[in-house]
Amino acid sequence: MKIKILHLFPDLLNLYGDKGNIECMRKRLVWRGIDAEVITHTCLDKKLDLSDIDIVFIGGGSDREQKIVCDKLLAYKKELKDYVENNGTLVAVCGGYQLLGKYYKLQDKTIEGLGILDIFTEQGKKRLIGNIVLESELIDDKIVGFENHGGRTYIGRHTPLGKVVYGYGNDEKTGYEGVVYKNVVATYLHGPLLPKNPALCDYILTNAVRRKKSGFIALEPLEDALEKTANEYIVNRFKRK
Ligand code: GLN
Repeated sequence: MKIKILHLFPDLLNLYGDKGNIECMRKRLVWRGIDAEVITHTCLDKKLDLSDIDIVFIGGGSDREQKIVCDKLLAYKKELKDYVENNGTLVAVCGGYQLLGKYYKLQDKTIEGLGILDIFTEQGKKRLIGNIVLESELIDDKIVGFENHGGRTYIGRHTPLGKVVYGYGNDEKTGYEGVVYKNVVATYLHGPLLPKNPALCDYILTNAVRRKKSGFIALEPLEDALEKTANEYIVNRFKRK
């Protein structure tokens, strides 16, 4: 069995090295003896075939890059929507998260999104920047990360990825962060999201392997002592006194 990971538009959407998340997924599969291959789809590629893809990753980008990439993404609207509805695993970070929704309204322009999630984003006055800690029903460990977004995302009836323990989250007000829908995990947490949160990485990988291999139950545990210590350190650092 081989798990194929597709990095969508790494040439435009890769703020803060979101790409490291792909390496983390690949390694955690390989360490368990599961073959993994990373494929990239850039602006220069013309056709998107998701028929044998197991995980799609869309990273974050500045407003400028999002404006450039949106038309290219919209050309694959049907492919991506069908993939998600067919339980394909998709991880979207920040700008990529916003583009899964109906639109991202900026002061001078509204960027049309893929409409895969029934959410929308509007640019706010100040940027929401800083460390963030979440509690999520998906995993036992807390999710730690870093957010930096001008957009406020309104998720309506969707299930959030987690409850904000420290930081801003989707819209600064509701106290929730991200969205989980079918096998989609969408979040504002940037950069080394998955290396910092190995349990979340395994949740994502498990969904992908289960879809590929019927009867598959769980991944073998890995020795994550160092990763867990780092995660707990951050959680304690930002614990509200
Ligand atoms: N440009 C978007 C915003 O500022 C997303 C930013 C990002 O991906 N960090 O809200």
